[in-house]
Order: sequence, then structure tokens, then C-alpha cells
Amino acid sequence: MAKQYETVIGLEVHVELATKTKIFCSCSTEFGGAPNTHTCPVCTGMPGSLPVLNKQVVEYAMAIGLATNCEITRVCKFDRKNYFYPDNPQNYQISQLYLPIARNGYVEIQTGEVKKKIRIHEMHMEEDAGKLIHDEWDDTSLVDYNRSGVPLVEIVSEPDMRSADEVIAYLEKLRTIIQYLGASDCKLQEGSMRADVNLSVREAGTKEFGTRTEMKNLNSFKAIARAIEGERARQIELLSEGKKVIQETRRWDDNKESSYAMRSKEDAQDYRYFPEPDLVPVIIGDEWIQEIKDRQPEMRDEKLERYKKEFDIPQYDAEILTESKAMADLFEAASAICRNPKKVSNWLMVETMRLLKEHDMEPEEITFTPEHLAQLVQLTENGTINSSVAKEVFEKIFTENADPVEYVEKHGLKTVNDEGELLKVLQKVIAGNPQAVVDYKGGKEKALGALVGQTMKAMKGKADPGMVNKKLRELLK
Ligand code: ADP
Ligand code: MG
Ligand code: ZN
Repeated sequence: MAKQYETVIGLEVHVELATKTKIFCSCSTEFGGAPNTHTCPVCTGMPGSLPVLNKQVVEYAMAIGLATNCEITRVCKFDRKNYFYPDNPQNYQISQLYLPIARNGYVEIQTGEVKKKIRIHEMHMEEDAGKLIHDEWDDTSLVDYNRSGVPLVEIVSEPDMRSADEVIAYLEKLRTIIQYLGASDCKLQEGSMRADVNLSVREAGTKEFGTRTEMKNLNSFKAIARAIEGERARQIELLSEGKKVIQETRRWDDNKESSYAMRSKEDAQDYRYFPEPDLVPVIIGDEWIQEIKDRQPEMRDEKLERYKKEFDIPQYDAEILTESKAMADLFEAASAICRNPKKVSNWLMVETMRLLKEHDMEPEEITFTPEHLAQLVQLTENGTINSSVAKEVFEKIFTENADPVEYVEKHGLKTVNDEGELLKVLQKVIAGNPQAVVDYKGGKEKALGALVGQTMKAMKGKADPGMVNKKLRELLK
């Protein structure tokens, strides 16, 4: 019988914090500026420049640590991690090794019906590196230091995960917590959340962990799931052939759906860490911790309960609406404008979710405004447009944030409320479909549907189907 293997996974998650300025200087952290425009002597590593710690970085890190059940380190320090690479102009990264800001936490995840705690070993603050841009055409490499010095936290889990589903549940949980805290937008595609996956396999039933590899360059949940499946299969194949897994860093190529070795894994001593001499320790007292706790915004679980109570929304719907902060914000803002949370929820739950899936988008990438969704709800509620027109208009809102009032006006989509006109069309339809009329009168309900359809078509979809239905029944009595 073939041996059974268990997958063991631990994650190192980097999150870019949502501060306006960098961790050790006052340069902007804004994404996407012209290369090397958000830079100064500090974040380009000029000799003699000195770092000054951004207090907001510490506060975001504390907030994340507290929300993930960590102990906050009362005297925490920075360390230098030395390595040489062109994206790292100082030739060292300021990070934390010995006294990271938070330790020994956990988050609870759920997969199917099963709940499980994933332990967090530690979380530390550090600075991001610049970006290398390789121009293969020109055979040159360029470097952009705009990202150099952008604040990061790195959250290191224990090797507690056993499947891709658990990994994704863990990442979603972290993302929800951090987004709710406003500490980061956690966009995988833009790199404001990045996950390195450490994976090993072991024979089912054994205690000892196998040798792990670390995979980098994973920028979507789908890529992470595929990388886990691919690496698990690769390691099992090696072991079944009696070969060994080599501890190394591998780069996942999502297009080829395979990984290749980047470098053998460094140990901490290779980095020659030592205490950062240019920064004083950060002393965190009870009062400061209390202040951060008091400032904690409404988190997902509280919001979920409130939606159920305040808006009478079912559990499942409340889960979907609160899973992403972007969705919850949209729901609340649109509901406040049109005062119809049920209908807003319905648009988000059904059409928005459908279109997100179709466009392979995350809720954070929604571009339409709550105003436009609220206006659409109003247009349907006051009978200006019918539900099939509303769907068409919503697609325009979703894809190009169209103004629904303008759009309906411009394309003449208002429901025809002129009874005289409707009657004329109905009479034509009745006269033109004698068989359907006979069938309906003979008891075939379905035949009425056909007549409604004909009428809607004749009126170019701009009639109220309920009204058409009612009038037809009256006429055919
Ligand atoms: P290093 O210091 O070499 O980066 P760490 O002990 O910090 O190693 O672990 C890095 C990550 O790898 C952690 O998330 C941890 O849970 C995970 N990890 C450690 N050992 C294993 C293993 N055998 N299999 C899978 N993941 C592991
Ligand atoms: Mg590590
Ligand atoms: Zn700077």
C-alpha cells in the first residue's frame, strides 16, 4: 500500500502598514509614484543619515498584536539584518530579531464545520526594500527606492496548518482583522500583503517534522493553493523515491504551475544580526496598551451580530457582508443613504458577488460608490425601473461606476406607466397568440408566462412585469 503523507505548513506573512509616511523618515508611502520620487538620504541609505521611528508604526503593530491575542513586548528593540542586494541601499535591513513587538498569539480559523487555533510565534516590525526592475530588452536592471523604508510587520505562524484550505482561512482571518483595524489594505496583488509558505510533508502518524522548503512570490489565494498542491506532490515524490528534500527557498511560477530553487536557505547567523545602534528601545507601558485597546474599532464579529439585530439580516448574509471591510463599509454607506438595508444587502449578496466572481475580483477592488448603489435601490423601489432593467443598470454601475439616474434617463429605460399604451400592446399580443390564449383558458398557467414574455418584448423590457401579469389575467377572465 502506498504511504500516506501529511502536509505541515507555517506561514511568514508580510503586511505593509497604512501609515502616510515611512518607518524611519517622513517620505510618502504612496504606491505608484514616479521612480525614486519618494526618497531621501535616510531611505536611500546615505552614510551619516539617521533613522527616527514613526510612532504610528508601533501603534498599528500593537493593534494587530492585541487583535491576534499576542503578548506585547514591553521593551522592544530593533536589530540590523545584514545582507547585500541592490534593492537594499544600506546593506542592512532594520528589523527585529531578539525582542519583537509581539509574541505567542493565535487566531481561530474555521474550515467547514471545524474550528482550529493557528498559533502565532511572533510578529516584528521592519522596513521594506526597494524594487528592482529588470529590463531584459535593454539588458539593464533599474532600482526604484520608493518602497524602501515602507513599514512592514512580519507575522510568523507556528507550523500548525495542514492543508491549503487552512492556509487560506488563516490568511483571510488575518486580512479581515488587519483591514478592520485600518492598519493595512492587505492587497495581495499590489503586494501590501505577501505570504511565504513553509511546507514539509511527513508520513501520516509520525511526530517528527520533515525538512521544509519556503516558497515565495505568491500573489493570490489561488496561486497559494496551487503552490501548496504542487510542492506537496513534489516532496512526496522525492520521499517515495527514497530521495531527500533539500531545505531551500523556491520561487513559485504560477504560469508554469511549478516551482524552482532560488537559493539554499540562510540561517539567522548568515545575516550577522546585531542590535541597531541608531535607535533607542521602545518602552511600552500599560497606559499605552490600554489606549490602543480603547481605540479598537468595531471588529468583524461585533459587526456581524449588529447587522443581524439592527437590520434583521440572516447569519449567512451577515457573514458575507462583513467578511471584507470594503463590503461592510459599502453596505453601511449605501443603506444610510437609501434607508433600505435589505435591498442593499440583496444587491451585494447576489449581483455584486456574481460579478466579482465573473471578473475574478476581490471586494477591495470594487470601484462603484455607495451613492450609485443607493440610487439604484431608490429607482427600483419607486417603480422608475423594473428589476430586469435594474440588473442591466447595475452591471454598468459595477463595471464603470455609472450614475444610474443619468444612465436610465439617457437610455430611455424608465418603466412605461402609461396604462393606455400597455393596454394597446396587450390587446395586440392577445390577438397575435390565439393558441396561448386557448391554452391559458384551458388551465395551462405556463401559457400566461409566454404572453407576459411577448408583452415585455414588445415594450422593450420597460414594462412592470407584475402589472403586465395582472392586466393580462383581467383581460383573459
Ligand atoms: P527561519 O528562522 O529559518 O526562518 P523559523 O523557525 O522562523 O525559521 O520558521 C519559519 C516558518 O517556517 C515559520 O512559519 C514556521 O512555522 C515554519 N516551519 C518551521 N519548520 C517547519 C516545518 N518542518 N514544516 C513546515 N513549516 C515549518
Ligand atoms: Mg523566519
Ligand atoms: Zn525617506
